[in-house]
Amino acid sequence: MTARPDILVAGGGLAGAAAALALARSGREVLLLEREAVAQDKVCGEFLSGEAAAALSRLGLDVVGLGGQVIEHVRLWRGRRGASAPLPFPAFGLSRRVLDEAVLARAVEAGAQLRRGCAVRRISAGLVETEAQSFAPRTLLLATGKHETRGLKRPAPLGTLVAFKTYFRLAPAEHALLSSHVDLILFPGGYAGLLPVEGGRANFCMVLDHSMLRRLGGWPEVLAYVQESCPHLAARLRGAVALRAAPLCIARMPYGFVHRCASGDPAGYYRLGDQAAVIHSFTGDGMAIALHSAALAARCIGAGEGADIFHRRLGQQVGAQIRRAGWMYRALSLPLLGAISFSAMAQFPMGIEFLAAQTRLRTGGRWESSPPRA
Ligand SMILES: Cc1cc2nc3c(=O)[nH]c(=O)nc-3n(C[C@H](O)[C@H](O)[C@H](O)COP(=O)(O)OP(=O)(O)OC[C@H]3O[C@@H](n4cnc5c(N)ncnc54)[C@H](O)[C@@H]3O)c2cc1C
Repeated sequence: MTARPDILVAGGGLAGAAAALALARSGREVLLLEREAVAQDKVCGEFLSGEAAAALSRLGLDVVGLGGQVIEHVRLWRGRRGASAPLPFPAFGLSRRVLDEAVLARAVEAGAQLRRGCAVRRISAGLVETEAQSFAPRTLLLATGKHETRGLKRPAPLGTLVAFKTYFRLAPAEHALLSSHVDLILFPGGYAGLLPVEGGRANFCMVLDHSMLRRLGGWPEVLAYVQESCPHLAARLRGAVALRAAPLCIARMPYGFVHRCASGDPAGYYRLGDQAAVIHSFTGDGMAIALHSAALAARCIGAGEGADIFHRRLGQQVGAQIRRAGWMYRALSLPLLGAISFSAMAQFPMGIEFLAAQTRLRTGGRWESSPPRA
């Protein structure tokens, strides 16, 4: 039999869970379907920017109480050269396993109905199909992340980058040196980030061009290559214990994609988070965009505004930021231009702050600020 929920949210990551929470709080009947039966690690650098932290605070989540580690500085590395600058906003390191579960739990407390271990298999002709049941929702929020759903594909560019993520327990002296910092490492063919998260762990997340991965072979070779390219990282990881047997890995991220409302989606279909817009990961602002899209969709639905208005508004708010991030990535990855830009940033750390500010979500003219720290 086909169920007819008022609002169906497909995908219980940050975007889906935050939207379900906001809509349930406003008294709407929400059914949330999440593919994973239990909490999982996700491929993510787990850098919560000031805007993301502010959005979570507005939802009533206490990032520090969840174990978020305060991050105040960014250190950029290219080969043997380093440059450091204060972040233009306080940020946090917090695992997605903890964060996403906390938002999901809040959504359930607010009255959203959550079905776990329930994957949407196909969406077509107004029907959302899972293994066990079909749904014909009045409103669908598609929040299934980067990859496509059968029947509702996006014209998204499929990139050539591959992403890896794992955790390390660093040697105590190295852990102390990493404290309150995010290290961003640029190397030929990609970039990597290292930052502290809860539980005394360090998140190591990186992207690499697929052609380079083919050349190198596998994960041990990739990790060795990044350390050879950046002696600072090699020093940081000396004596570190890998906390996962193998890293998580995803490929073909559609960086730069911004959904346009003229794409032919049925009326009443709102795409959230990475389904709506995908920013380059080095900016650490994907979660802020996901949370912002959720809040905006909840406001539009509450005001009776259609998906076309939502997507137009979201595109206007995040399009320029996402384009700038793409240009920056291309510039930094070109050998000569990258070297010149890096030298300039090493001499004038304000340049790093300026670039960080260019890739922030701005909804009111400035980037949004972090909540006060506990
Ligand atoms: C390498 C890398 C590093 C990154 N680092 C950062 C960072 O440091 N800081 C930052 O802010 N952003 C970062 N991002 C971006 C950030 O991870 C995403 O923008 C964010 O996770 C988007 O949230 P989402 O809810 O749209 O998608 P997701 O977090 O991917 O959630 C999608 C959810 O949908 C579920 N799902 C999928 N398919 C189905 C289905 N068919 N049926 C039901 N459920 C389904 C999944 O299980 C998942 O829970 C990074 C991205 C990458 C690739």
